[in-house]
Amino acid sequence: MTPANVTDRSGWVALAGNYRAFPQLAGVNKTDWLVIGGGFTGLAAARRLAELHPQDRIMLIDRKRLGQGASGRNSGFAVAMEMPGPGDLNSAKGRADYLEHAAIHKAAGAEVKRLVTDLGIACDYDPNGYIFAVRERAKFKALEERARALNDLGGEAKVLDAAALKSRLGISFYNHGLWIGAGNALLQPARFAKGLIDNLPPQIECYENTEAVTITPNGTGGATVTLAQGSIQAARVIIGLNAFMPRLGIKQDRVFPISLTASLTRPLAPAEEEEMGRAAPWGMLCPIEGGATVRLTADRRILMRNTAEYEPAGISEKMLAKRREWHEMGLRHRFPFLPKDAIEFTWSGHMCASRNWSFVFEALSPGVFAAGCYNGAGLARGTLLGKLMAEHASGETSPLIKNALAQEKPSWIPTGPLFTLIAKIRLGHELRRARSEH
Ligand SMILES: Cc1cc2nc3c(=O)[nH]c(=O)nc-3n(C[C@H](O)[C@H](O)[C@H](O)COP(=O)(O)OP(=O)(O)OC[C@H]3O[C@@H](n4cnc5c(N)ncnc54)[C@H](O)[C@@H]3O)c2cc1C
Repeated sequence: MTPANVTDRSGWVALAGNYRAFPQLAGVNKTDWLVIGGGFTGLAAARRLAELHPQDRIMLIDRKRLGQGASGRNSGFAVAMEMPGPGDLNSAKGRADYLEHAAIHKAAGAEVKRLVTDLGIACDYDPNGYIFAVRERAKFKALEERARALNDLGGEAKVLDAAALKSRLGISFYNHGLWIGAGNALLQPARFAKGLIDNLPPQIECYENTEAVTITPNGTGGATVTLAQGSIQAARVIIGLNAFMPRLGIKQDRVFPISLTASLTRPLAPAEEEEMGRAAPWGMLCPIEGGATVRLTADRRILMRNTAEYEPAGISEKMLAKRREWHEMGLRHRFPFLPKDAIEFTWSGHMCASRNWSFVFEALSPGVFAAGCYNGAGLARGTLLGKLMAEHASGETSPLIKNALAQEKPSWIPTGPLFTLIAKIRLGHELRRARSEH
């Protein structure tokens, strides 16, 4: 049977309340600073620019609504301590590499916490870490070794067996798990983004439904950006486009979009709460690519995300309806007591990936800077690296900026049909390999 179409609507955004609305920009404009993209990266960059340059003109544009792209569509895991791959921490070189990244993750997690606290953002921020878990032991290589190595490095990790998982989660789907604390947190991402928007310094001029169509570097530094109905000449530009970089010809042979889809149920009914033993909110990730992300949210809903695909043109409503069936299947496996129609919202979003898991943090030309491509972990890193990029673009430096600049750059990828073929085969393989974890 062909599934009926499903409207693409982020449940997080729908439940976050009314967003401030901003005008569309047209005409010929000139500015000291232009930030392109109003997700976590762009919002953080604009905020920091206003702190550093209170007299300058600062413009922030987004092709749609501020904070409602991937930043209002993600699963809300704020990463402060990444889970290492199996064997990553076995050698001195592996540990040194991990620690270089770890410094950025740790600062990123702390920056999210600082903003939530300082700005008083009500986003269900929960600092109690989250869990990686599987059904099949073979899908979680070196579980105990990874836990030991994380604890040796000053982390906070604990192995959970099936009984411990059942008691913590209120469901019996998972058998082998690893809880990681150490600053890892969960939050309602759209409320966090909305809180950042609500608290933007008034000096920042925000424009929505204002798409950068081309970006042409100026000989003297900065760039001229054309819009559908106008242009902006900017002395300095910070690009926070993440998965949309290639569409504007940026890093086309380095980074690529991955389409994810997610569903959020209605709140649990009293009998369903009983079934789950009134478990406290939790977040669950899969240690292998292609596995499911699941959350029991603070407002007692279940989030389910179990697809990752290369669909650069996006997910149509018809495709989304099919993905929703896969979410229903994932829910059935874990929460058999939930009826089929428990899902209230289903949506898609683009994350940005590179082949070697590296991010972009660099000057593209004099006065034009880009930060992005966080490989699915950009809630905290985007928030930190947007801020650091504003500082770097302002001529400041710090150990974290040096660290970010020194990280390995995204490696080369082919473009065109060859890449499409490779990406579809690779992601399809990962989804099949993780089937037991859907
Ligand atoms: C379903 C899903 C689940 C995820 N889960 C997590 C998670 O749990 N934890 C985590 O850390 N990360 C997660 N991610 C990734 C995370 O959402 C991103 O890394 C993060 O949002 C990146 O922020 P950003 O500001 O760089 O980019 P975005 O949030 O993508 O913002 C870019 C903005 O640029 C705008 N834009 C695009 N083109 C133009 C243009 N031409 N002109 C002007 N504006 C333009 C867009 O409208 C958008 O608002 C997930 C992503 C998805 C899709």
